This record gives sequence, C-alpha cells and structure tokens, in this order.
Amino acid sequence: MRSGLVAVDQASPRNCNSCGTALATGFLCTHCGRLQPLGSEENYFSVLGFAPRLQLDTVLLEKRFYELSRALHPDRFTTSDAENRRISTERMTLINDAYRNLKTSALRRSYFLKLFGFHSAANQKNPRIPVELAETWFELQDALAESPTEAASKLRGFEVELGEFRARKLQALLAIEAEVDAALDKLDPAQSAGTRSDAIAVLAEKLLAEVQGETYLDSMTQNMEHMKKLLL
Ligand SMILES: [Zn+2]
Repeated sequence: MRSGLVAVDQASPRNCNSCGTALATGFLCTHCGRLQPLGSEENYFSVLGFAPRLQLDTVLLEKRFYELSRALHPDRFTTSDAENRRISTERMTLINDAYRNLKTSALRRSYFLKLFGFHSAANQKNPRIPVELAETWFELQDALAESPTEAASKLRGFEVELGEFRARKLQALLAIEAEVDAALDKLDPAQSAGTRSDAIAVLAEKLLAEVQGETYLDSMTQNMEHMKKLLL
C-alpha cells in the first residue's frame, strides 16, 4: 500500500542555476533575473510555499497564490528570452493546479494521501453501510416498498440522522487530520526516511479508514435526495 515518503518538508538552500548566486526566494534569482526551472521535488504544497499538511491556513494560501500569480504574470516576461517565458508558464500552470487542489479540504486530503503514497479512497472495495445508520436505513427501505406515506415520514427522520452522523464524522476526521499534521511537525528531519515514513503510515492508515466511509455517505446522501424528489 505504501510506497515511501515522497514529500520533503525542508527545501535545502539552493543556488541560481544560471549565475550561482544563493537564492533568496524559491524561484527567482534577484541577481541575474533568471527564473529557476521546476525541480523534481516540487509538489503542490512546496510550489505555494507550504510544507505538506492536511490543514492549511486558506487565507494565507490565497494570499500566496495571488502574490505568485503577480510575480509570474506573463507581462513581466515580455522582454525575457524564450527559456524564461517557458519557465514562467510552467510554474504558473503548476501553481494554478496546486491552488485548485489545495483550497478545498477534500481535494487537499486526497492529494496529500497520494503524495505520501497512499491509495485514494475511491479505490475502496465492498463499502458497507455504517452500523449506526443501518437500522433506520433498512426501515426506510421496507417503508418504501410498503407505504409511501410512512416512507415520507421515515425519510425525514433518516435525513436528520444522516446529517447528525455526518457532522460527527467530520469532527472525527478533522481531529485525525490535526493529529497527522502535529506528528509531521514533530518529525525530526535527521531521522531516516524509512522511520519518518513508518510514523506517517500509521496515521495515514487511520485517516484513510475515516475517509473511506465518506464515499459511502456521499452516495447515501445522493440516494436520499433522489427519494425526496419522488416522495416529498
Ligand atoms: Zn542568477
């Protein structure tokens, strides 16, 4: 399941690939004006100046996105050579994708799991109805077959129950996310990649288990909306 640690928390200090001056910011040499090509270690988090975390300050994320968009705007490179223009477009494309994927928690979670080598929740097999909801759900199914009036009333009850259940699940998910992030904050970069990766794997498994239930709840919510159209 796991395929090792892909992400790097700390970018090592780098030098300009053109003039060799130490870089003050990640991608532009203030000495010679060359944009630095994207390195293979860049990811959606790093390209926006974040360490990979499940919970991000989305106000800061937006601020960074607009700052970088301004800094990489094509107007700034009209007098540059083709190479610099190509790099600015490449970076901007990655930054756009990064922002789109990191600004919502669900997409960010799914990217995070992929970055750390975990399968996405979409690959789950044999999704099962959560036991907490099973009784009401099956009562609803029986009512649907027997009495539309009763089904309508059961459906309203189920909607409330499902809403409350999802709210509790969300709290649990947020708590696990915070736990994973805190563990990442504490990881010692001096530890071997294997040790770091094992520590993350334990937490990511927990996260993954929590996320997998979400897919089932989404389809349940969709079914319920469909039934509401028919019955209410
Ligand atoms: Zn330079």
